[in-house]
Amino acid sequence: MAEFTMELNDEQKEVRDWLHGFAADVIRPAAAEWDEREETPWPVIQEAAKVGIYSLDFYAQQYFDPTGLGIPMAMEELFWGDAGIALSIVGTGLAAVGVLANGTEEQIGTWIPQMYGDANDVKVAAFCSSEPDAGSDVASMRTRAVYDEAKDEWVINGTKTWATNGGIANVHVVVAVVDPELGSKGHASFIVPAGTPGLAQGQKFKKHGIRASHTAEVVLDNVRVPGSCLLGGKEKLDERLARARERAKQGGERVKNAAMATFEASRPAVGAMAVGTARAAYEVALDYAKTREQFGRPIIDNQGVAFQLADMRTSIDAARLLVWRASWMAVNGKPFTAAEGSMSKLFASETAKQVTGQAIQILGGNGYTREYPVERMHRDAAIYTIFEGTSEIQRLVIARTLAGTPIR
Ligand SMILES: Cc1cc2nc3c(=O)[nH]c(=O)nc-3n(C[C@H](O)[C@H](O)[C@H](O)COP(=O)(O)OP(=O)(O)OC[C@H]3O[C@@H](n4cnc5c(N)ncnc54)[C@H](O)[C@@H]3O)c2cc1C
Repeated sequence: MAEFTMELNDEQKEVRDWLHGFAADVIRPAAAEWDEREETPWPVIQEAAKVGIYSLDFYAQQYFDPTGLGIPMAMEELFWGDAGIALSIVGTGLAAVGVLANGTEEQIGTWIPQMYGDANDVKVAAFCSSEPDAGSDVASMRTRAVYDEAKDEWVINGTKTWATNGGIANVHVVVAVVDPELGSKGHASFIVPAGTPGLAQGQKFKKHGIRASHTAEVVLDNVRVPGSCLLGGKEKLDERLARARERAKQGGERVKNAAMATFEASRPAVGAMAVGTARAAYEVALDYAKTREQFGRPIIDNQGVAFQLADMRTSIDAARLLVWRASWMAVNGKPFTAAEGSMSKLFASETAKQVTGQAIQILGGNGYTREYPVERMHRDAAIYTIFEGTSEIQRLVIARTLAGTPIR
């Protein structure tokens, strides 16, 4: 087990500096344009693929870094560049984690490369769990997968919503109900490749922030996928369902389901994205406060401004500490006895919203315009308290963990 450390090793520093260079030279200059266009920035994803940032190898290297700092460090730097573009680059990772967490070795080897494509023909993937009537309340999901034993196929029907890359993905990972009696314990995840008859993109959402990231409904109308597309395989699913039924009979002991495992693994990473956005806005505000003069002196010479910057920096550092601790715990198999993963996401996302708002205040009228990036960063930051579980849901998970009551 790797000891927890705040000190990046030489290799990590090199990767961090390389990512920072890409974020500063390629992502940040493109941010305003793609925010206005509200389209997937394919040329930037392709650039990221060319240098090796958008690839399974890079993602896996960071994911399996035994210190746990690889993913949060990478997320912070990319999202420091721009949240919308960075989400377009890393959004595929959420679906990839779904396959890594629940798939067989064969499924991982088959589908993850198809999620990324290659530098000449980049592809993206989507993780589809949320539904119009099942957001925070994942257990009320209605999308149904029924097994057709004669053909060894699964038939999926339902509507997914808010899917990042939904409808434009080469591979969709779809969570569906296989046993409605078992609530969230009766869910399973399926691979649905692009072009499968019955799979269609619904409404594409026009959003407040992260507008370079594509978010859409995904409609599944009698979609048929082979048995091999059930993540983990039928045998494992049948065993899991049998255990859940047994537990339900005995009074309902808690069981982790596929969607929850995916969310749990990704929460500190979302916290790291929030740290990146918060740091970006703080840096703009700090520079501005040092150079903008009013009443014959830089505005940072006013305690009212300087104390805001002090609070902003303190919160960002505290958020990073929580995120790094949770990522280290996740990679090293430490039990989250106080829901430390949720804690890190809660604190970092609230920090990003707060800090980006303070940055607008420090830039005054300029902060309120699209001439300066903090306005965009503030819009972007609002997503962190919503996706991957809202702040209220993080508090609920933390509170129930502390109280020792079941988390559903
Ligand atoms: C840009 C974007 C990208 C997304 N990407 C994906 C994706 O790739 N894949 C995917 O599956 N989903 C995705 N989501 C969905 C996201 O995870 C959900 O929006 C989120 O889980 C909240 O669900 P909801 O929007 O239905 O809100 P609701 O669950 O309806 O919540 C509404 C409000 O009620 C509060 N609330 C609900 N229940 C409780 C409670 N028990 N106690 C206290 N407060 C409560 C919530 O905190 C929130 O403030 C994305 C969403 C957005 C906006």
